[in-house]
Amino acid sequence: MGVAASQAGSSTSIAALLAGQRLDANREVWEQRLRQVTAADVQAALASRPGSYSLTKLLALVAPAAEDYLEQMAELSQRLTLQRFGRTIKLYAPLYLSSHCVNRCRYCGFNKDNSFDRTRLSVDEALAEAELLSREGFRDILLVTSEDRQFISVSYLTQLARALRGRFSFISAEIYQMTASEYRQLFDAGIEGITLYQETYDRQAYAHYHLGGPKANYDTRLQGPDDFASAGMREIGLGALLGLANWRIETLALGEHACGLMKRYWKSRISFSFPRLRPACGVPTEAFPHLVSDKNLVQMILALRLCFADAGLVLSTREGADLRDRLVGLGITKMSAGSRTSPGGYSQDHKDAGQFEVSDERSPSEVAAMLQRQGLEPVWKDWDRAFLSI
Ligand code: SF4
Repeated sequence: MGVAASQAGSSTSIAALLAGQRLDANREVWEQRLRQVTAADVQAALASRPGSYSLTKLLALVAPAAEDYLEQMAELSQRLTLQRFGRTIKLYAPLYLSSHCVNRCRYCGFNKDNSFDRTRLSVDEALAEAELLSREGFRDILLVTSEDRQFISVSYLTQLARALRGRFSFISAEIYQMTASEYRQLFDAGIEGITLYQETYDRQAYAHYHLGGPKANYDTRLQGPDDFASAGMREIGLGALLGLANWRIETLALGEHACGLMKRYWKSRISFSFPRLRPACGVPTEAFPHLVSDKNLVQMILALRLCFADAGLVLSTREGADLRDRLVGLGITKMSAGSRTSPGGYSQDHKDAGQFEVSDERSPSEVAAMLQRQGLEPVWKDWDRAFLSI
């Protein structure tokens, strides 16, 4: 198939790695390679050691030819996930802190150009929301904020994390990009995982969808995971916003990105999220030419599991209940439940001002009951900082 083996040493930057494979531009090359994948290539990928990565293998598994092998991929993925993670699914809840944003991302309801009533939570208000989540049983919380540095500052986040540490055993964040030393301050305050989506690995599409603000620089964005991984974060969350570019090529770039980070930060765990574009305030999904079907979302999840045995695979409430129920046994390791995607959404009804519309509106206990019906154990907490001292 003519895929150059990755020669990247540990010092090669991710940008150079992607450019070397032409995964950040010239995507016609990859479209052609995807079309050339044969049934024999897919079978060879399925015969390789489950959970091992190579770009050639991932190419075969995300190719159109692999769509005829989804059942076999699902069986292998299910078996591998069971071996590595047992019959468990971690549950977490996002806590939105602000809907003010300086960026102009075309796909997001919070973008600066969109006019609606924006909200910010004070630290005390955020703690009150977190208290509601704690009462629901959550011990794993994801702090989410738009780029609102003036209000949601590093000092705000460290103060909040320190106050949450007693209640929550795992705190992670999906926040605007920071410097390595700022990430270190978050880590010291108790935030142990960061998710930073590249949104799209295609430079041209990136420029098209990011009209302004600090986030508009592709290369700066790509540097983010290195910065927070080097700050000690235990969980490195990666993802592309599905709908901005060809998902098959985005998955290949994601695979290379993850592989490059794993070589350098072997103590941290990679996790992949699968955010598909959802309707949002002022953002019609018709404007996006690369929306991903349910079938292809499943293919992407299975392909990544079969290439990354130990990666966390995270599914949010962007997806509907039916699909989530079908996916939990196949490779997903962590899911949100009962989410509200606007600041203050747990104590008030802010459904019309969320970052995106939630699709699975079941309560956390309903999601937990669904998992139990499927023979899976919902895990509200599976880590404690005390383990570090053992
Ligand atoms: S995606 Fe993030 S950075 Fe972009 S407009 Fe939305 S909240 Fe702001």
